[in-house]
Amino acid sequence: MEQKIYLDNAATTPLSREVLAEMMPYFDTVYGNPSSIHSFGRDARAGVEQARERIAKAIGCRPSEIYFTSGATEANNWVIEGIASANKHKGNHIITSRLEHPSILEACKKLEKQGFRVTYLNADKNGFVRIDELLHYVCPDTILISVMAANNEIGTIQNLQAIAQTAKEKGVIFHTDAVQAIGAVNINVAEMGIDSLTLSGHKLNGPKGVGALYLRHGIAISKLIVGGEQENGLRGGTLNTPAIVGLGRAVELITRDIIINSKKLRMLRDYFINQVLTKIELTQLNGHAIQRLPNNANIAFGQVEGEAIMLMLDMQGIAVSTGSACSSNKLEQSHVLSAIGLPNDLINGSVRFSFSLSNTRQEVDYVVEKLIAVVKKLRDMSPIAKSQVGKGGNDECTTRK
Ligand code: PMP
Repeated sequence: MEQKIYLDNAATTPLSREVLAEMMPYFDTVYGNPSSIHSFGRDARAGVEQARERIAKAIGCRPSEIYFTSGATEANNWVIEGIASANKHKGNHIITSRLEHPSILEACKKLEKQGFRVTYLNADKNGFVRIDELLHYVCPDTILISVMAANNEIGTIQNLQAIAQTAKEKGVIFHTDAVQAIGAVNINVAEMGIDSLTLSGHKLNGPKGVGALYLRHGIAISKLIVGGEQENGLRGGTLNTPAIVGLGRAVELITRDIIINSKKLRMLRDYFINQVLTKIELTQLNGHAIQRLPNNANIAFGQVEGEAIMLMLDMQGIAVSTGSACSSNKLEQSHVLSAIGLPNDLINGSVRFSFSLSNTRQEVDYVVEKLIAVVKKLRDMSPIAKSQVGKGGNDECTTRK
């Protein structure tokens, strides 16, 4: 039977058995509406409140500062639109980065149409937002700064503490999209001075369609979803009890062993990167070599299309991606790779490999072997590539040996 290898954990992760086991009773016997006063409701409510406590403990906030949503897209939309709307008497300027996920960028674009001013910070070649540039753009009208904790495509981990500190000194609310960072980076919102944070269940071996927003007490936010009085009157809709219970358990599990798990993933990732960069000509790593998500390797292959690599690997049972899952079915270039200044041919030749603890060295060897063959085949078919390969590379795209 064909071997199937999943290297797309940045797009989504499988549900952990432990998480599933914890969720099961809430699909079955504990079916009450968590807002009901009777015992059926109270039983469901207990599961929801335990999840709230677990998440609060994991990120260092109070349980009453956690709000459940349908995922990080909703939570990010809510933060951007809700904070802007509730604070517009203080100013109409928002700062974010060009690296953000569409759930932030599209919400910002919506605000621009309503008369808000949005500054999109550039990133350096490694994917870092620069503090001096941030300082340059903060003005008395700035009400919100939103910078992601770690990037979903290139894996760069921002200097979160420094950004949060800058926002604090300037008296501006600071939000971070921590969807990719939770479980990979230690985050304590109180210690780091983070006012708002979003996370998603399916990126951390929890269920899909559930996420959470942490919002520091005292930060004003308008509602995004109106309806009943759930979630302290701020987010209407009957709570998705099984998913929330699963999210709580998943966050608890993933944040428990960050150091040891990150170390294992980093070793596997670096082994892979090293193999690819030394065995395949005209390749380079996108993003920072060290300050990156432990499971992320984003590699540019010169003289080939990333899309073609992805499809040919898929035919051999290997799942990887180009760009992010949310945009990889659009024929648009990655806005992240473009923000770090990668030339067009390398943007088109980039592929993201994202590992999990269940991947093995044997799998990595197998993938590298297939990758070598796939890239060779594609380059052999391309007349431009044939004339370039073997010449030793150029400034933009060199083989690291
Ligand atoms: N932010 C980031 C950085 C992401 O990677 C994703 C998922 N691709 C989201 C937000 C959206 O999360 P969800 O799928 O829960 O809506």
